[in-house]
Amino acid sequence: MAEENYLKEYRKKRDFHRTPEPSGEGRSPEEEPIFVIQKHDARTLHYDLRLEVGGVLKSWAVPKGPSANPKDKRLAVPTEDHPLEYADFEGVIPEGQYGAGTVLVWDIGTYRNLKEKEASMEQCIEEGHVAVWLEGKKLKGGYALIRTGKNGRWLLVKMADQQADVLRQPVDTEPRSVLSGRTIEEIAEGEK
Ligand code: MN
Repeated sequence: MAEENYLKEYRKKRDFHRTPEPSGEGRSPEEEPIFVIQKHDARTLHYDLRLEVGGVLKSWAVPKGPSANPKDKRLAVPTEDHPLEYADFEGVIPEGQYGAGTVLVWDIGTYRNLKEKEASMEQCIEEGHVAVWLEGKKLKGGYALIRTGKNGRWLLVKMADQQADVLRQPVDTEPRSVLSGRTIEEIAEGEK
């Protein structure tokens, strides 16, 4: 099964007897692909942007998180594919485990490939130029993910559309989980 291979790196890094994260079995892909952004208070705080592509969640770590201002270019570093079930994972990854720290579902929803007529999401990622329309609870509208060529780094940029807002910094003003309403501190505290 192809998905087994996609998740090999993800599984290799984790001991599922010790971390509450999912191992990635089950859950069939739904009609509309999903996206999720997880705030991850690990060694360094970052936001993991994940897009459902080909049965897994393609992932990028965004240190500053997404912006609604098209002038902001946010560094996005590719990370290993995650299982689809990871999308609603919220909780604490124990010390000693990969990615140890607290995870909060900062935004979740569906997305559309804005270049679907020309290229599949797989092709867009391969070519280093992704353009998606997000229908999240916090983020809406077009976002581009562009590989810069420098050390395989990417940039996440809000596209200039009606959903753009130069004054809105949702990462600062809307810190709570869209699933539980909790802050990252409350999640960390609640699982002690
Ligand atoms: Mn992370």
